[in-house]
Amino acid sequence: MDTDGAVTELMTVMGHEQVVFVADAPSGLRAVIAVHSTALGPSLGGIRFWHYPSEHDAVVDALRLSQAMSLKAAAAGLHQGGGKAVVLVDDPDVPRRDGLLRAMGRAIGDLGGRYIAAEDVGATPHDMDVIASETPWVTGLDGPGGSGDPSPMTAYGVVRAMGAVLEQLDGDAALEGKRVVVDGVGHVGTHLARMVVDAGARVGVADVNRNRVDALAREIGAEAIPIERALEEECDVLAPCALGAVLDEKSIPRLQCRAVCGAANNQLAEPADDDALAARGILYAPDFVVNAGGIINLAEEFVGYDRDRARRRTAEIAETVRRVFAIAREGGIPPGRAAEEMARRRIAEEGAGHRFRPGNPAAWTNGEPLRSVRPGVTPR
Ligand code: NAD
Repeated sequence: MDTDGAVTELMTVMGHEQVVFVADAPSGLRAVIAVHSTALGPSLGGIRFWHYPSEHDAVVDALRLSQAMSLKAAAAGLHQGGGKAVVLVDDPDVPRRDGLLRAMGRAIGDLGGRYIAAEDVGATPHDMDVIASETPWVTGLDGPGGSGDPSPMTAYGVVRAMGAVLEQLDGDAALEGKRVVVDGVGHVGTHLARMVVDAGARVGVADVNRNRVDALAREIGAEAIPIERALEEECDVLAPCALGAVLDEKSIPRLQCRAVCGAANNQLAEPADDDALAARGILYAPDFVVNAGGIINLAEEFVGYDRDRARRRTAEIAETVRRVFAIAREGGIPPGRAAEEMARRRIAEEGAGHRFRPGNPAAWTNGEPLRSVRPGVTPR
């Protein structure tokens, strides 16, 4: 993609509906809200607080991330589109002033539900609470009607995806006796490691934070693996749960796993790495399909949050992974590309000619009555 291009040119190439530039001089707010697609429902995506080298970098990041959210929501079968907001800050670790956050909340409110916010890199629960004091279009909050921390549900979805992966490899979804390496034991990785141990797998854990690894390994009876060996460990399933771009031309030839199935976003450094994994006979479960538990959980807020139903819907990730492998097999293409094609087809067919307009809440509840964005706050 030519990142030097004009913004509307990039939007055209990537298929964006709308990009909103936000500035509020009194509070110093500078932000970009990218609405990639509302063909399947309102766009949902996190707010990222980040220091960007330039405003153009911020715009390109918002465009890429929002496009990825459209694919993730579509693949997960949600009645939602993809969006993303970035707030330009000098240092994401310095707490934001409430005035800036309130101005951001008003900007989101002005979109009338075309963009729905959630927490992302750099955002704190406090940031989200202040933003939510100005607009109902915020998900993932703690408290009544909110779904709270999505990471346990994300981890649960990864476990179910692993079942589909093992079924494809061995004809049996059971994790018992299999060796799983979890690379990165933060929010999602910790829950995941615990769940796969409970399912009877032999688990290795790794993280740049050695203390975290040692404590978790002791607690759950896993093996602590030195970080430099994490990707080269012999195992049935490698679960990347840290940063993106871990699968590249350097790491792929060194992998000693039979399959990759983890929570990290954007695991492939380049689209061609999808082919490189297939060429090595390593089964890749596409990240945005595997890690959708988080947004499936958020989507449940719109019909009145119910944890059991969210779990049932998240468990369906196994079926989606199976479908992706079938499309890959039939088309002779690697699974990452198969997942993208599946998502794009749904947007093009089911979403054909649709565009979400404020005041049409049933659009994203698939006809069910809108019961709650947040209790006590009326959507407008
Ligand atoms: P987190 O920040 O809580 O955890 C990341 C962990 O990775 C930390 O423990 C960190 O020390 C470790 N780490 C950093 N660099 C590493 C490296 N080079 N090698 C090994 N470990 C390293 O993040 P999280 O919420 O657990 O998310 C993990 C990944 O999953 C991210 O890519 C995120 O985008 C993705 N994801 C998370 C969710 C969710 O529900 N939290 C949902 C979808 C996708």
